[in-house]
Amino acid sequence: MDQTQLFSPELLSLARDAEDALRDTFARLDALSFENTARVLDAFRRHGVSDSHFAGTSGYGYDDRGRDTLDLIYADVFGAERAFVRHSIACGTHALSIALYGLLRPGDVMLSVTGRPYDTLAEVIGIAEGGEDMGSLADFGVRYREVAMKDGKVDLASVAAALGEEGARVKIVYLQRSKGYADRPTLTVSEIGEVARFVHESCGAYVVVDNCYGEFCENREPTAVGADLIVGSLIKNPGGGIAEGGAYLAGTARAIEKCGARFTCPGEGLEVGASHGQNKSLYRGFFMAPHTVAAALKTAHFAAYVFDRLGFDVSPGYLEPRSDIIQMIRLGTADGLIRFCRGIQSGSPVDAFVAPEPSDMPGYADQVIMAAGTFVQGASIELSADGPLRAPYTAFLQGGLTFESGKYGILKAAAYVTAQ
Ligand SMILES: *Cc1c(COP(=O)(O)O)cnc(C)c1O
Repeated sequence: MDQTQLFSPELLSLARDAEDALRDTFARLDALSFENTARVLDAFRRHGVSDSHFAGTSGYGYDDRGRDTLDLIYADVFGAERAFVRHSIACGTHALSIALYGLLRPGDVMLSVTGRPYDTLAEVIGIAEGGEDMGSLADFGVRYREVAMKDGKVDLASVAAALGEEGARVKIVYLQRSKGYADRPTLTVSEIGEVARFVHESCGAYVVVDNCYGEFCENREPTAVGADLIVGSLIKNPGGGIAEGGAYLAGTARAIEKCGARFTCPGEGLEVGASHGQNKSLYRGFFMAPHTVAAALKTAHFAAYVFDRLGFDVSPGYLEPRSDIIQMIRLGTADGLIRFCRGIQSGSPVDAFVAPEPSDMPGYADQVIMAAGTFVQGASIELSADGPLRAPYTAFLQGGLTFESGKYGILKAAAYVTAQ
């Protein structure tokens, strides 16, 4: 079919300009994807991945070779001593909870140094309204402190002051790599490395990183530069758009042992937990992940260019390198944000006929609108967008299983936003 029947000549010309302007960026992302793919394949070969690893176990799941080998592969690729990857971890928040409960004991302090963590952790930490006696960290006598970021960086002077006041009680220094839904820059792996070095020189705390949306955006992960533990969701980057769910933790042998004891129970740790036939999709997803993440990054750069040229404020800028897959686009009006999300939805492979509506969400003061026409429910490695209905009406866009489908979705969004 003639492409011009789908999009206006103006939009198609803008798309060509975008790809011209992003030629070097795309070449750099192809090289990154190759480097990360090589690292993954090298680990597959060294660990002798074969068909027998895809067989599922049931019951206790003792000696599940597929599961145990994938754990070793994740550890290798992420530059960690140990790791565990499980389809049975419900979501990223669940995995982060395993990390926090695994390492923190009554009387300990968790010190977040990237400001307030991701929204869903408030009830886990025990700093949300309500939820009393639901077993939050606060219910178990764990204290929480936070240091806000300053000028887009971790404020090391304030971190030093907090560590000075709390001393050895600080068991976790916590960082969130991605901006998430906050308006601040995403941390690079090298910035996280500097913080880890600083913390390890000052105290014995574990440096724990919420790595969601960050995996494979650079050629190494925070564990390769000194983080004690990283955590992420498989319906984001490392699942490669193939995993049906699950999450991973990777880090030092000691941290992973403790988290394994929390994930199942002390004494059994990572030796139980059947894989129920999910191994193949976790392997295949990890194999795809460097490529899929590069496609999502290309889609983000492409969206930044198109919407910048259409006169909207975007962050990061279209040429800026990234350490996560999130693109912010400030639509400026409620109508613009709604049109943007409807355009993304109409450009999706699943539920493209649905028109998203703003709605109330538990825990949010403003209505939120979301577009997610995804194969795996809520998977945000697939093209998706959302944003709260408040000024400056920012859409948070992420994902794209292929650049072609990402480009299609962005052009749909542009067509909806610019329609008369
Ligand atoms: C997605 C995400 C999480 C975890 O969210 P879930 O919806 O529970 O998977 C945590 N932190 C960040 C920065 C995230 O992007």
